[in-house]
Amino acid sequence: MIYIELEVSFVSELLKKAYDAKQFAEIGHQLIELLTDYLQDVQQGVDRTLPINDPEELYKSFKNRINNNDQPIDIYKEILEDSIHIHNPFYIGHQVTPVAPLAALTDLLSSLLNNGMGIYEMGAVGTAVERVVLELLAKQIGFTNNAGGILTSGGSLGNLTALLTARKIQCAKKNLRQDQWRVLVSEDCHYCVSRVLMLMGCNEKQIITMPVDNYGRIDIGQLPDFYHSIADKQTIIAVVATAGTTATGSYDPIDELADFCHSQQLWLHVDAAHGGAVVFSDQYKHLVNGIEKADSMVMDFHKLLLVPALTTAVIYRQHEHAYYTFEQEAHYLFTEQEDHEWYNIGKRTFECTKYLMGLRFYVLYRYYGKQLFSDYINQVYSRAKQAAQIINNHDDFELLLQPSSNIICFRYYADNLTNNQLDELNQLIRAQLLKDGPFYIVQTRWRNKYWLRVTWMNVLTELSHWHALIERISVAASTIIRAQFNNC
Ligand SMILES: *Cc1c(COP(=O)(O)O)cnc(C)c1O
Repeated sequence: MIYIELEVSFVSELLKKAYDAKQFAEIGHQLIELLTDYLQDVQQGVDRTLPINDPEELYKSFKNRINNNDQPIDIYKEILEDSIHIHNPFYIGHQVTPVAPLAALTDLLSSLLNNGMGIYEMGAVGTAVERVVLELLAKQIGFTNNAGGILTSGGSLGNLTALLTARKIQCAKKNLRQDQWRVLVSEDCHYCVSRVLMLMGCNEKQIITMPVDNYGRIDIGQLPDFYHSIADKQTIIAVVATAGTTATGSYDPIDELADFCHSQQLWLHVDAAHGGAVVFSDQYKHLVNGIEKADSMVMDFHKLLLVPALTTAVIYRQHEHAYYTFEQEAHYLFTEQEDHEWYNIGKRTFECTKYLMGLRFYVLYRYYGKQLFSDYINQVYSRAKQAAQIINNHDDFELLLQPSSNIICFRYYADNLTNNQLDELNQLIRAQLLKDGPFYIVQTRWRNKYWLRVTWMNVLTELSHWHALIERISVAASTIIRAQFNNC
């Protein structure tokens, strides 16, 4: 034991203050009180979800105060005021979760510890917890004990990691050069998939788009003919499927795709960033039937598993595949005999200093149990279905399609308006809604039409909020039609 006199000679009082544990407690208590009041207010529905902030003005106001030496609590208050309120039940916009507050508390612990997890010695607990989380997830998905993977920062990076693995393994198996391989993707896959493929050096000819059905799902009926009509099929290495497409929340037919891929020796990667969480729900897990036959898959915890951004699982049906992804020499980190040691996670991830990201989910699961996640999925998926039904029964609205998940696309409809006018009308409706508050909804362009888009992320959002939204939209629509399209 080395004993060092605690009277450290800081070069300044300031430096001493920055590490003072008492000050941490003081500000910490203030912050918790502030956030408690915030949660109570916001969850009851404040008057607007999205504060209207001009980007230039917001930038200037934060810039002008940078040298103020303000109290942290005052800075925190300003931040809350100018932020979008995701816990507000009127928030039904993007696929971002209203964080379970316990996950946010856990993050404070992760941040203070700052145990970067590239190598075991630096992140022992994070490494152990990561394995536990991945194993329980793999089991929930239906994979055998042979499966395994890593956690990484986001679905985009997860897709890149899995597709790098797919290329490494498939090019070696099929004896292909790096510029020969091609991949089959769907028109409705997330935009990051083509970005990832371009990052990997693909040109447009190497990315082949498969036919989809009216729901935006890979059309499994047409796939065999389509596939066999492609020249030089032997250079195709993988199929990328989506469980929960971004525009419409649809699920590709994974079971059939897995059988097809298996018969053609194609790697099946499933991007289940949004919709994979249904594996926790007995009611909805059928949506990803066959996912345990995929070679790789990604699932975001920050979409439907109640934790803050970013945490993504990349799981391989055969866990040893993960070790080939980044095979290179990095002797200063890993000694040779340590090959394939699961606990040096940096061997299988892009990240070197990785955030202790598994804890958020681990603590939620260990405290509340698995039931929390199944209850959440059941509630938000079922509410979205009921909401879609209400839209479908309404004469002035058009439902794009029956939702498979918690994403609903619809638009205000009047049969005396042209398609262009309907597009314009629905964009104006959204702008008006955001201006008036309290609702926050988004929009998407799908098959050349504009749709209002809602993701039912919040368990506090009730059908009464939905009825209020429909009312607001109807009023806004009448006003806009009278003002803008009075020729009709
Ligand atoms: C959200 C999403 C992504 C991107 O994930 P990030 O975590 O935002 O990087 C990719 N694919 C799908 C299907 C998604 O829903």
